[in-house]
Amino acid sequence: MSEDDLTPEGELTGEAAPSVGTVPVLAVVGRPNVGKSTLVNRIIGRREAVVQDIPGVTRDRVSYDAEWNGRAFTLVDTGGWDPDARGMAERIRAQAEIAVGLADAVLFVVDATIGITDADEAVVRVLRRADKKVVLVANKVDDERAEAQAFGLWNLGLGEPHMVSALHGRGSGDLLDAVLDVLPPAPEAGDAVIGGPRRIAIVGRPNVGKSSLLNKLAGEERSVVDNVAGTTVDPVDEIVDMGGKSWRFIDTAGIRKRVKEASGHEYYAWLRTSTAIERAEVCVLVLDGSESVAEQDMRILQEVREAGKALVIAFNKWDKVDAERRYFLDREIERDLVQVLWAPRINLTALTGWHIDRLVPALEKAIEGWETRITTGAFNAFLGRIVAEHPHPVRGGKQPRILFGSQVQSAPPTFKLFTSGQLDAGYLRFIERRLREEFGFVGTPIEMKVQAREKRKRT
Ligand code: GDP
Ligand code: GDP
Repeated sequence: MSEDDLTPEGELTGEAAPSVGTVPVLAVVGRPNVGKSTLVNRIIGRREAVVQDIPGVTRDRVSYDAEWNGRAFTLVDTGGWDPDARGMAERIRAQAEIAVGLADAVLFVVDATIGITDADEAVVRVLRRADKKVVLVANKVDDERAEAQAFGLWNLGLGEPHMVSALHGRGSGDLLDAVLDVLPPAPEAGDAVIGGPRRIAIVGRPNVGKSSLLNKLAGEERSVVDNVAGTTVDPVDEIVDMGGKSWRFIDTAGIRKRVKEASGHEYYAWLRTSTAIERAEVCVLVLDGSESVAEQDMRILQEVREAGKALVIAFNKWDKVDAERRYFLDREIERDLVQVLWAPRINLTALTGWHIDRLVPALEKAIEGWETRITTGAFNAFLGRIVAEHPHPVRGGKQPRILFGSQVQSAPPTFKLFTSGQLDAGYLRFIERRLREEFGFVGTPIEMKVQAREKRKRT
């Protein structure tokens, strides 16, 4: 399917290994103010997970790409919820349940200067039941004096408390070594989980018909085993056979049973969506065809694009779409979905199963586009042609030239252009458009990186 035989000639060196396959997920849990987001920042080495001095401000972004000693993992910060709300202990417990449902391992953060609280103990009970690997973090151990206090955390019964100061970095290397010990190995770059079921995330806002679609695809009988005596943790994924192949649906538990969004916080739904996208190869964004495209739909689209995943858009509830609605829908597609016109679109009625058979071909097309690789030779010939037919506009008396280009990665396709100067955003969009015209790349975002030879401004 992918053009595996077209191996790139003259691959550039010094690039990060292509991230193929799914990387393990590490969830960070703990009470508010124990230093979760400070720790996340420390681990990802950026100031991306903004530390809020105002507690309770919901953070949008919850998944981050992290790496330690050459091993990649996804870090999920479960910190962004309202600690002032009533039933805090209940919330923390729910947060922990979701985290263990999503993650391969859990980083449980405790404030060593405060010690064990009731809320911490509630989390411990959840973690024990879940039988997930846990790395216990005694945070705010800024100096040796604080270590004495941290020893008390052995009493949690979760093994060694790893003493760190998220703020100053103390102990964080040892902590990450411990994390790598418990995470399952990520697939090696290159062995793109060939043969394993493709990973699909069905995403969309509430009530668009995600669970109806999943039920139709999986058959009502195949629902997950739930409520196994005392277990509150859901089996997360489900394997479904479609079109003669197995597919892995990510976090179906979250779709089937609005799990413990109990305290009604929309944040949990977002956490699940964001993590499911991160773990998937291809996302099916379900929209309600009978309603206008909503802000929330766009937000999910944005997340899929940023995560670099293949995408299929399914307009559901087509039974409710009449000629008039259809007219407006076409306008909305041009206006709101203009950034993702490359995504295959299908119209279906999950309720009756109408057109449901169109999903597999759409998924396959999107995955094929996502994994497409073009050779360095073909890419440079293409660049030569488009530059000849439509050169970059002259800026300040200079005309940036493209010296060389290469596709440095697939899944998603990522290109690097070496130039004599910065390129206009508009020109980059032009290159992307022409790339799609010539090579397909259906159903996938394309990333373009520019490396200018002159003094580097922003790339
Ligand atoms: P979260 O609510 O668990 O995400 O906690 P934050 O990361 O927002 O941190 C809460 C407060 O604790 C902030 O004022 C941080 O600066 C502070 N903090 C975090 N880590 C440390 C640490 O290692 N030592 C000290 N002294 N303070 C810390
Ligand atoms: P979810 O929240 O996205 O999982 O949505 P559900 O699958 O629970 O569906 C929400 C509501 O929409 C339910 O009442 C479904 O019966 C209804 N629904 C789902 N698919 C369709 C469809 O194709 N046509 C119509 N008319 N209703 C649908």
